[in-house]
Amino acid sequence: MIVSEIFYSLQGEGFLTGVPSVFIRLAGCPLRCKWCDTKYAWDAKAGQDFSIEKIIKTIKKWPCRFVVITGGEPMVNSELGELTAQLKEIGKHITIETAGIKFVANLDCDLMSISPKLGNAELADGKSALNVEVLNELTANYKYQLKFVICTEQSLSVDSKDDLAEIKQLLAQIENVDLEKVMLMPQAATRDELLAKSEMVAELCRQSGFVFCQRLQVLLWDNQRNI
Ligand code: SF4
Repeated sequence: MIVSEIFYSLQGEGFLTGVPSVFIRLAGCPLRCKWCDTKYAWDAKAGQDFSIEKIIKTIKKWPCRFVVITGGEPMVNSELGELTAQLKEIGKHITIETAGIKFVANLDCDLMSISPKLGNAELADGKSALNVEVLNELTANYKYQLKFVICTEQSLSVDSKDDLAEIKQLLAQIENVDLEKVMLMPQAATRDELLAKSEMVAELCRQSGFVFCQRLQVLLWDNQRNI
């Protein structure tokens, strides 16, 4: 597998925020989100070639039960099933971070952390990255959280074309979606940006009932990589 990086830190986002975790960042992502903070992991060849055995040996350096497989986009990696199986064999709690663009069945995954990309990702080709069928499969088959990136000041009108309206329209198409697992996260690559947008997103959460999603890694370490 081509690995962009492996490092030990705290989970910065989602319901496991603050949990010490080993991150395995796989190289390669077919999307090109405008505000992506891991552009160095876009290229599927941008990393080191690791066997699964070498990945397991590397993560054992840290006495940590929580493993996060991230990217890039890990769900497009053909060896993901074997990697998760071997991680489960050694008792790890496995989070997979995905944009929700591909469904893979029967993965050993304790938490599917899905971050569907809204129009604010402004993909270069102008297409939508939302795949309702895939999101239905992921939420029906895995324990999950749904994290949405919020970019700008919002109107709460369901008719407006803002991020929140887009989220509500999408959620209406996901069967049996658990709204308590929906999180709103400020788009922020720096601490200043995070602090500037947090109050607006917090207010959106108060009004919509969705959960505020922190970006602890940005708050603690600003835009430094892999701390
Ligand atoms: S899906 Fe994630 S890794 Fe891929 S471009 Fe978007 S933000 Fe970056």
